[in-house]
This record gives sequence, C-alpha cells and structure tokens, in this order.
Amino acid sequence: MGVLNSLQVDLGARSYPIEIGQGLLDGLGDGLKPLLKGRQMAVLTTETVAPLYLERAQASLTAAGFDVTPIILPDGETSKSWQALNQVFDVLIGARFERSSTVVALGGGVIGDLSGFAAASLLRGVNFVQVPTTLLSQVDSSVGGKTGINHPLGKNLIGAFYQPKKVTIDIDTLRTLPRRELLAGLAEVIKYGIIWDAELFARLERDLDAFLALEPTVVAEVIHRCCAIKAEVVSADEREAGQRALLNLGHTFGHAIENLAGYGEILHGEAVAIGMVMAADLSHWLKLCPGNDVARIRELVERAGLPLHAPKHAVEAYMDAMSRDKKVEAGVMRFVLMRGIGSAMISSDVDAAVTRQVIEAYAV
Ligand code: NAD
Ligand code: MG
Repeated sequence: MGVLNSLQVDLGARSYPIEIGQGLLDGLGDGLKPLLKGRQMAVLTTETVAPLYLERAQASLTAAGFDVTPIILPDGETSKSWQALNQVFDVLIGARFERSSTVVALGGGVIGDLSGFAAASLLRGVNFVQVPTTLLSQVDSSVGGKTGINHPLGKNLIGAFYQPKKVTIDIDTLRTLPRRELLAGLAEVIKYGIIWDAELFARLERDLDAFLALEPTVVAEVIHRCCAIKAEVVSADEREAGQRALLNLGHTFGHAIENLAGYGEILHGEAVAIGMVMAADLSHWLKLCPGNDVARIRELVERAGLPLHAPKHAVEAYMDAMSRDKKVEAGVMRFVLMRGIGSAMISSDVDAAVTRQVIEAYAV
C-alpha cells in the first residue's frame, strides 16, 4: 500500500510530481493539501467512474479540508465537447470559483482532457490535478500538459497546453477497467519501449503475464518508466516542435485505421498497435530496422491480445485518410520510423510506393 514509485516532471516553474502506488485515492486530500492554497475544489468524473471511486476520493479530500463539488458527466468522447465544457463552467462559475480553486480530473483521458482545458481557461487558469484511472491516461494523457476538446469537424482541435499541479496514479483502479481498455493502454506502453527504451520492451516480453494479471510491483514500475519517458520527451520539447513527435509512432497509420473503421469501432490503442507493427514493417522495407525486431514487435502485440490487421479498405482510402492527418505539414506525410527496438526517428520522405505495399499487406 502507499506510494510505490514517484517522479518529478521538470518544466521549470511548471514542474510537478507524479505519484504511483496502491490505495492512493484514500490519501488524495493529504497529498494535495501542501500544494494548494485554495480550499475550493471540483472533482470531474464520469457516470462509470463515479460509483466506483468518487466517494472515496471525495471523502479523502473533504477530510483534508477541501470544499468539494462533484461533477458527473456521461461517458465517452461526447463529453469532450463545447456543450459539456459549458456545463462545467456553469457549475464552477456558479460555485464562485477563484484563481486559487482546483479542478480534479478523476477518470480516463476524456475526463482529463476536458478538465484540463476547463482549468486552463476558467479565470485564465485555476489549479489542475490529474487522477487518471485508465492505463492509457496513466501512461499517456495525464503527462505532458495537452488538454482540450473535440470539434464536430475533428478530434482535439480546441485546446491548450496546461500542466497539472500533481498527478496521482492509483494502480488499484485498473482492477475495474475492462480488459479491452487495459490492452488499448498497453499498446501505448509497448510504444514507449519501441521508441525509447529497449530494456522496457524486453521487460514487457518477460513480464507480460504479470502485467496483465496486474501484479502491483510490475505495473507500478512499468507505469513509472512510461511516465518518465514521456516526461523526458515532453520536458525537452513541451510544445511539440521536434522529438515529441516520436510519441506518434504508429499513429499515422493508426489514425487512418480509426478513421476508416469509424470511431468507436476500434479503440485508439488497438489502432496504434496495428499502426506500430505497420511502421515497423515499413522501417524494415526501407532497410532501417532489422527483421528480427519487427518479428519481436509483432509477437508482443499478438501475445498481448492486440489486433494485427487493419480493416479492409482500398489502399487509396488509407493513403487519403493519412494525408488528411493533423500531423501532415505542408502536404508532406511524416512517419515515425524505427532503427530498431529502442530507437526511433522522424522521416518526411518515405516512398509512397513502399507505404502502399505495407498497407496492402495489413489491410486484409
Ligand atoms: P476514456 O476516458 O473514455 O475511458 C475509457 C472508459 O473507461 C470510459 O467509459 C470510462 O468511464 C471508463 N473508466 C475509466 N476508468 C475506469 C476504471 N478504473 N474502471 C472502469 N471503468 C473506467 O478513454 P481513455 O482511453 O482513458 O482516454 C482517451 C482519450 O484520451 C481520448 O479523448 C484521447 O484524445 C485522449 N488522449 C489525450 C492525450 C493527451 O496527451 N492529452 C493523449 C492520449 C489520449
Ligand atoms: Mg495515442
């Protein structure tokens, strides 16, 4: 019980701690008290997460002297909308929020992104705290400061970079997470190994079963490593001018897969898993990455129970979807390629014929 691992995200005056452990929901209030001046607080969560964890979080915050307003939103991407944001503002402004007040996100990436943007924009910025409860949000969206909502014309088009005061990761919350959501988060975990850390990748090969059985020390250490990698990448490139783009491994193909499958049909992490295997193969065909590394990536993705094939659509439909990706700059598609497990690079001059061949091999 208690904190198993912790780290500091170094961003000068905007630095903040991440704590990873078991039973941390019950210590939430005491942990935040020294960091926050104001006592006023809102906890944003969803209809699924509220019955599971809101009471415990709220009890701990109230016991520490915080004056808590809970806000419960429907599950799903639709809560990352202007309408939902406005409802949140109605409550926060109605409760006379001040600059010293705090918005706490208790939930997955949807709640984290919405809450963060609400915190960033209300009164030009109130305190923000992340309590991520999905694996994806624990290793990815809660670190790095990207917040925002969707627009009917596209995902994540409206938002701000805004750092939390603290991230508290209670790994016990993963016990109630549907298996499919856990695996989708695992795809992003595998991604960190591929782009940055061969040792993490080898550990996943070794400890996959323990991780999936939610063995606490394994889970806490792996999450810690992922947060450290994301923190390192983000600290060096807070606003995504350069190497932060490495985090998009598998995402160029992945976004096209999500797009063609129809959002909701395939989870983001599932699409990324397929996209990573495709990017590995692309890297191999471009003579950058050894075939053995491609085989290891494919095998780990398969053992994890993640999909290996993209939905069947015409190659040109994929090419078209990829050229519409947000990451396209001046009409040039940018791929994250790998030199091998643990080392990635960005390339904007990939032969379209080779890209087509890879799509043909996977979209079956
Ligand atoms: P999510 O927030 O929709 O959560 C998935 C589902 O699991 C929801 O229904 C949720 O209510 C439920 N849930 C959450 N915690 C649970 C728990 N402990 N037990 C049982 N059920 C639980 O999805 P997600 O995968 O966490 O996040 C996806 C979102 O994150 C997307 O909107 C994406 O754009 C965003 N994202 C943001 C960043 C970033 O840097 N800000 C990075 C990656 C993804
Ligand atoms: Mg992703």
